Amino acid sequence: MSADAWFQWGRRRIAYSVARDERRRLKIVVSPSGSVQVIAPHDAADDEVQERVRRKGGWIAAQIDDFEQYRPRTPPRQYISGETHLLRGIQYRLKVHQNDASRIFLSGDRIVLETPHVESNVHKVALLDHFYKLEAHAEFPRRLRDVAPLFASEGTAPPKLMIRPMTKRWGSYTPKGNLVLNQDLIRAPVQCIDYVIVHELAHVFEPHHGSRWRQLMDKAMPDWRDRKKKLETSLV
Ligand SMILES: [Zn+2]
Repeated sequence: MSADAWFQWGRRRIAYSVARDERRRLKIVVSPSGSVQVIAPHDAADDEVQERVRRKGGWIAAQIDDFEQYRPRTPPRQYISGETHLLRGIQYRLKVHQNDASRIFLSGDRIVLETPHVESNVHKVALLDHFYKLEAHAEFPRRLRDVAPLFASEGTAPPKLMIRPMTKRWGSYTPKGNLVLNQDLIRAPVQCIDYVIVHELAHVFEPHHGSRWRQLMDKAMPDWRDRKKKLETSLV
């Protein structure tokens, strides 16, 4: 039996589901997707369960935040010439030109954006989005091919790669076995792109961020903590 409930933690409303089980102690599981499941003993009263969950609110919120550890942080943009935009962690200056046709390309240390609509952020954002999407689709499969052998000894073929815009995460490993990468990850340094791929590949074998997951990470990518920090602290 499962019931849905929620509690208020600061300004956040945290939802959770409750299941009953033959056990003596209440157990709280926060999955990588951020969902919270509470497994309670059969004889625990509903309000007692609710109170125990609320008391663990700080820990639950921290777990959810940890799983969204690579939440993208993008500074506000004006899409004008001279503005800096990142690609693979390298800064490029945007150069906006009026032209009859729309196109966008790299030239030296510049991203050149040409459009008949230089005043239109909609056009400029769409062109940049297109540019990052194509760069991501060129780069990520290469990165996956490079890092997948790190898990060869665990004995599974690399999952299917999907690339799409994501607002809250850099990547995920879905229950259907797909590796999903945020298209905007192409703005991050290659070593951070590799970290996110390895992070998600480790989820093929271990869904949670517990000691088994950390062991897999330590073995595959000993400096993953540094890369994680770099990704978290860079304004991508
Ligand atoms: Zn994870």
